[in-house]
Amino acid sequence: MDIDEQLILWYLKEKRDLPWRNTTDPYKIWLSEIILQQTRVSQGLDYYSKFTSAYPNVGLLAEANEEEILKNWQGLGYYSRARNLHATAKYIHYELNGVFPKEYDSIIKLKGVGPYTAAAIASFAFKEAKAVVDGNVYRVLSRLFDIDTPINSTEGKKLFQELADGLLSREKPDLFNQAIMELGALVCTPKKPLCLHCPVQGKCSAFENGSIADRPLKLKKTKQVLRRIDYAVIEKGAEIVVRKREGRDIWQGLYDFASVENQKDLEQESLSNYVRETFPESKITSISSAPEKSYTHLLSHQKIEARFWRVQVSGTIEDAGVYRVIAKDDIDNYAVPRLIHRFLEDTGMV
Ligand code: SF4
Repeated sequence: MDIDEQLILWYLKEKRDLPWRNTTDPYKIWLSEIILQQTRVSQGLDYYSKFTSAYPNVGLLAEANEEEILKNWQGLGYYSRARNLHATAKYIHYELNGVFPKEYDSIIKLKGVGPYTAAAIASFAFKEAKAVVDGNVYRVLSRLFDIDTPINSTEGKKLFQELADGLLSREKPDLFNQAIMELGALVCTPKKPLCLHCPVQGKCSAFENGSIADRPLKLKKTKQVLRRIDYAVIEKGAEIVVRKREGRDIWQGLYDFASVENQKDLEQESLSNYVRETFPESKITSISSAPEKSYTHLLSHQKIEARFWRVQVSGTIEDAGVYRVIAKDDIDNYAVPRLIHRFLEDTGMV
């Protein structure tokens, strides 16, 4: 039996029952794929059900307001995914009369959709013979064929795509794609793969050569940039100042607080000066002598060391530019990065 048939047979017996596998609606498949990028299945399930209930079709997602979408996305991280989701929904609804593109070549032109996602949608929804290559597939193929070309090199990407295309079942591309990814998720796992339960163990070169632990091979990651952020959490009675993050930086469109960035061991005096300059009509009535909370927050290419100072003010504070003065009770209605949510939770504000 060929590898594709073996994988499909195994998949039909062992697959997990996941809601997006019970539909061929390209909208729902696209939604699930965007949610699952950089997200574990267990976490993605809740968000999938939240989004399909709130926006059961592409038109409702297109017409929704961006702040509400970001709020629903809160906790998933990588917020550019949510913004691209909205932009693409609007494009399909308003420019394509609500009809989802049907071919890989058109699907890949959608914002936020790369080769993997386009192949997944084209094969799952329309049975187009396009092989998916995600982290699971890289791992399975690199072991099955014992390949030492780094998976994150240009050469590796091309090689693994060709291998996957070569193995793909032309009759059942949807099942084959699901099967190879499921094998990587359940059996050919990064650590301690369950080779004794693997349907293709007899054909696995890494198993035979004893090189499983060295596959897949990866080039070293780019260095993480360190950012230090000192937040001034400015409060006046029942009000608090939030800032909408704009520009091409992390957390675009989300809310955090006024801040001073990249000064090592920033002192209370400097933070006070910053608050006075930003809100000249206000008067600081109290500021903690040291940060109340400190966190280290990791993003894909950035390490953020954040410190939070509570600053009480009197006098006038008003909305200005990116700053908004809101009721503290209302803060849970604003989409905030996970780091800020953690601080709000730890201080009992939400
Ligand atoms: Fe992965 Fe082991 Fe199966 Fe090879 S035999 S494909 S290493 S699970």
